[in-house]
Amino acid sequence: MKNPFVLILSILALISPALLPAEDKPNFVVIFCDDLGYNDIGPFGSELHRTPHLDRMAEEGRKFTSFYSTSPVCTPSRASLMTGSYPKRVGLHTNGQGAWVLFPGNQRGLNPDEITIADLLSEEGYATACIGKWHLGDQPEFLPTRQGFDHYYGVPFSNDMGQTDRPAGKFPPLPLLRDEEVIEGEPDQRYLTQNYTREAISFLRENQDRPFFLYLPHTMPHWPQYSSPDFEGRSANGAWGDTVEEIDWSTGQILAELENLGLDDNTLVLFTSDNGGALRHGASNDPLSGGKGSTMEGGQRIPMVVRWPG
Ligand code: MG
Repeated sequence: MKNPFVLILSILALISPALLPAEDKPNFVVIFCDDLGYNDIGPFGSELHRTPHLDRMAEEGRKFTSFYSTSPVCTPSRASLMTGSYPKRVGLHTNGQGAWVLFPGNQRGLNPDEITIADLLSEEGYATACIGKWHLGDQPEFLPTRQGFDHYYGVPFSNDMGQTDRPAGKFPPLPLLRDEEVIEGEPDQRYLTQNYTREAISFLRENQDRPFFLYLPHTMPHWPQYSSPDFEGRSANGAWGDTVEEIDWSTGQILAELENLGLDDNTLVLFTSDNGGALRHGASNDPLSGGKGSTMEGGQRIPMVVRWPG
């Protein structure tokens, strides 16, 4: 299977949502981790990380063991997720300056003329939000709000592209955006996962009476890993494991809220990663060889779990 774009598009084609009354249109939630490896969660064999919510999600849903991203790094993989195209077709196989991904201030980004999954769902009357890491261009014309999303909240690129974990002056302060406005510089990253989760739950509540598409691309477990005091130092795998366990908690919160709202039967929740696990930071892609940045299996074959009770 190529990517979640194709999966959701296929479902839309099968059920012809344009013909369905609004209350019958399925909702879509895509939870997208950054650099999470094939063997980093329980359903895929991890005995190091405790992921009870993902374990349950896989039991009640389905796991896809042969699921690939189109690239072993962030930007190209996300370009495909949004458009269903190979990265090179939308000019995001490099940043145009020799790097594999976009950096702060790059003049390149996802062309707003491309049709994104959010554009398509928006046309079908869906409420749409992107909450988390975008990494498809930080200039205003490339932001999620210009690409079919009603709302955006998050850090628009990788969390190491600021000043806390890089020599000061290499990059501007790491921006946290709401829609198109920078609301904070160098946010306390320990709370990013919790803040994204809170924003996501607000979006679900606000849009419970209409079909919605929530795209939740977590900043973690990409380096540098940060987790809230509730998770920091708690896992058996250092900072990496702490962030994975916090993402599992977050997923549990989303699933519980859908149930509380009576929406879980008609909501497809898809959990996956943008590329293979970053081995030097603590990920596991066992039994696959290679990892993030490599076109070996471990670089592009990623864990994927889907749940849609109805
Ligand atoms: Mg990544």
